[in-house]
Amino acid sequence: MIPDWPSERRRMVDRQLRKRGVRDPRVLAAMLAIPREEFVPHEIRVCSYQDDPLKIGYGQTISQPYMIALMSELLELTGSETVLDVGGGSGYHAAVLGQLAARVISIELIPALARLAEQNLARTGLGGNIKVVCGDGSQGWPDAAPYDAISVAAAAPDIPEPLLAQLGDSGRLAIPVGDRQDQELRVIVKSGGTVRERVATLCRFVPLRGYAGFP
Ligand code: SAH
Repeated sequence: MIPDWPSERRRMVDRQLRKRGVRDPRVLAAMLAIPREEFVPHEIRVCSYQDDPLKIGYGQTISQPYMIALMSELLELTGSETVLDVGGGSGYHAAVLGQLAARVISIELIPALARLAEQNLARTGLGGNIKVVCGDGSQGWPDAAPYDAISVAAAAPDIPEPLLAQLGDSGRLAIPVGDRQDQELRVIVKSGGTVRERVATLCRFVPLRGYAGFP
């Protein structure tokens, strides 16, 4: 039997997001609109709306819906922004950000996953304002900088200097920082010459690789 995806999605939004305090109506609407099942490998499609990260191959995962909603909310997007999405994976997180901002650059290190993200976004018709690029996102993507917001979906040992440099004034960066097992989700806000930082929650992401990632 084919699951009733729209009602699974509604249940996910109510039980996993609203109940845990996600409030931004634009974020809730985006999570309700994006078909997560289209970004999940076929064999595990029935698990699409589980309260967990899911394997997408190459040792990588599509993040838990709650984490994606929380990170999106923390970026306080209004619809006019240019966003850098580091760790494109399946393209799902980029699709959510694409509903919330004007333009998204999604950077993925593994070429096969960059192609997967591109295919998923094209098939669902959600890629219109999203550019997928293949490369080391720990160095940012200078071509489209400065960014109004940067979202990092892989755990970093520290805040990568190039990402801070490519964040525009009043820009916001959400990034898990810690060791390979456990991290804290930090939100960095740049304003004037100063950088403010706070911890939003504890979390667990796959490691960031590359120049400013884990060896
Ligand atoms: N946001 C994705 C899943 C993130 S999993 C989704 O919605 O499906 C983390 C991703 O970060 C993995 O795909 C991994 O290959 C990628 N990654 C790790 N280090 C990276 C780097 N330095 N630059 C770009 N992508 C990186």
